[in-house]
Amino acid sequence: MDLYKNPVFDMACRQFDAVADRLQMPDGDRLRLKSPKRALCVSVPVRMEDGSTRVFAGYRVQHHLSLGPTKGGIRYHPWVELGEVAALAMWMSWKCALTGLPYGGAKGGVAVDPRALTSGELERLTRRYTQELIGFIGPQLDVPAPDLGTNEQTMAWMMDTYSVHAGHPVPGVVTGKPVGIGGSLGRREATGRGVAYLAGRAMDTLGLAAEGATAVIQGYGNVGSVAAQSLVKQGLRVIAVGDATGAINNPKGLDLPHLERWVAERKTVVGFPESEPLPPEELLLLPCDVLVPAAMERQITESNATRLRCRVLAEGANGPTTPEADRILNERGDVFVVPDILCNAGGVVVSYFEWVQDLQSFFWSEGEVMDRLFRILEGAFVQTLGLARRDGIPMRLAATTLGVQRVWEAKKLRGLFP
Ligand code: NAD
Repeated sequence: MDLYKNPVFDMACRQFDAVADRLQMPDGDRLRLKSPKRALCVSVPVRMEDGSTRVFAGYRVQHHLSLGPTKGGIRYHPWVELGEVAALAMWMSWKCALTGLPYGGAKGGVAVDPRALTSGELERLTRRYTQELIGFIGPQLDVPAPDLGTNEQTMAWMMDTYSVHAGHPVPGVVTGKPVGIGGSLGRREATGRGVAYLAGRAMDTLGLAAEGATAVIQGYGNVGSVAAQSLVKQGLRVIAVGDATGAINNPKGLDLPHLERWVAERKTVVGFPESEPLPPEELLLLPCDVLVPAAMERQITESNATRLRCRVLAEGANGPTTPEADRILNERGDVFVVPDILCNAGGVVVSYFEWVQDLQSFFWSEGEVMDRLFRILEGAFVQTLGLARRDGIPMRLAATTLGVQRVWEAKKLRGLFP
């Protein structure tokens, strides 16, 4: 699989191999489960505001088709490359299977810094990228959603471009859309709320009280900011946050409504009045009860894993912890890890609800969405913890085992095609 050669893909493969070893999976099945089913690489030419033309590289990877259409976010970030997208697609497969959703995993992305483009340039880029994906995506085929660097507006442009091509509205082609055009109530908040819910369950499991406990958040975008607000509602204090521009802390607890307005206006947490600046590399090392990485992959590595001082590591981001760091955390045994494919699954669960609502043109209240979300997350948490305790294995290995087993079972039932 040299095509996907990349440190993040290597990490996803190593996690998968640990599960396949445990399950004594035959080599042929191992290769089938690991290999992405298909990938599309496209050039995305965009007319810039100054009249010049730039060409961006875009990708979409569909990992497996055994359980239904594929599902996964679209990432806009300068480092996006095929192998990273393939790794994220593989994690989506295990995440969807772990939570019982009828999907295979997918992921897409464009190598671009969205903060450096105007809104008009972003719209042209998104529409052209979508145009290149027509035939590869669709409500019964592959359903994109927002991820790092994309949002509801991006999904609205994708939905509109696809619909123009189809000649009629196709809301079910993407999820994470604005509510006004077929989005679901609660979708924007779902990932962060799920992260906070599961961090709370981990604290219950350890016998830690939420009231007065502290949290640190790396990445103050959709997932990180909503997780922060939800943790505060549960009684915690958020004492430090960071984003791509820097980090801040206030041991008494940050005033989040004020910080929201600050970030909305200035696009950075830096300079927030009621806080002290913090070197970003120290953010993850602050003593706290709950640490939420909600930015990029490979933030917790062998160089800082020994120095984490949290009780619960609630992985909002995909792939924030390397296998080397995992080994260190497992040996330490004093950090309860809620692994990414469980911890941030709230997003895809409510994306699934959005897709169901779009296909039926029948929309639910926010209360219904949230009740059903927490029921699914609770079930996945209990099953993962149950397996981890029964077999004496780490939470990540347990969660990945449950996901991989379900995909493997479907492949055995269906045969070689999907
Ligand atoms: P976002 O673009 O809304 O926010 C990302 C945040 O991370 C921003 O504040 C950005 O400044 C910050 N950031 C980027 N690079 C950083 C770095 N090197 N150090 C510190 N901060 C950095 O993205 P998002 O949708 O919140 O996604 C964040 C993570 O959560 C990603 O790993 C994504 O794959 C994962 N995730 C997102 C969803 C979803 O529904 N949006 C669902 C599941 C998982």
